[in-house]
Amino acid sequence: MPAADDLDQQIIDSIRILALADRAWLRSIGDLHGISATQVQVLDLACNSPRERRRVSAITRELNARIAAITEAADILVERGMLTREADESDLRATILNPTPLGRRTNATAYITAPSLTARLRRSPATHKVPAYNLMLNTLADLYNDDTIETLRSCLTCRFFRPAEVDGKVSKCWKLKEKLPPDKLRIDCKFYAAGEAE
Ligand code: SF4
Repeated sequence: MPAADDLDQQIIDSIRILALADRAWLRSIGDLHGISATQVQVLDLACNSPRERRRVSAITRELNARIAAITEAADILVERGMLTREADESDLRATILNPTPLGRRTNATAYITAPSLTARLRRSPATHKVPAYNLMLNTLADLYNDDTIETLRSCLTCRFFRPAEVDGKVSKCWKLKEKLPPDKLRIDCKFYAAGEAE
């Protein structure tokens, strides 16, 4: 156990416990539909990702999982009639997962954030949440930059991001021409582009 005054370790332990709670929630959602927690996540990504991110390999990276585990999860979702497989014409070795109407209906009822956690956060003031969110974003960006995590479509790792110190008083998105104050920074943006700022 960490020393009582080791705040860094206590934050890490808190994140681990949150991750366990999230996994338990995913399992309970999966139980309602007769699928596993991993299958809930695969279905969610297949329902909410653009085509290029619905490849089995892309979903594997997104979930930081093993390819065999995601292939097996996809097989079961196909068997249950929630997904179909499509050969990728641009890469014949790749498979794209498409949700069926049943898959979309199932996913719509499997909102994957525990309501108790959402409700708790809604009650917390922004003055507590904004610094916490920024600590998370900066830590994730560091982990992405040293290759500990493979996928992170956040403003802090996007080539369109202009930090406040470079371009005025507030950070901006060069692509969307929007101001990005600390509470508006995105963690998963569909306009994200990897690479160094231009
Ligand atoms: S494109 Fe998206 S991720 Fe990139 S800076 Fe703009 S808002 Fe942020």
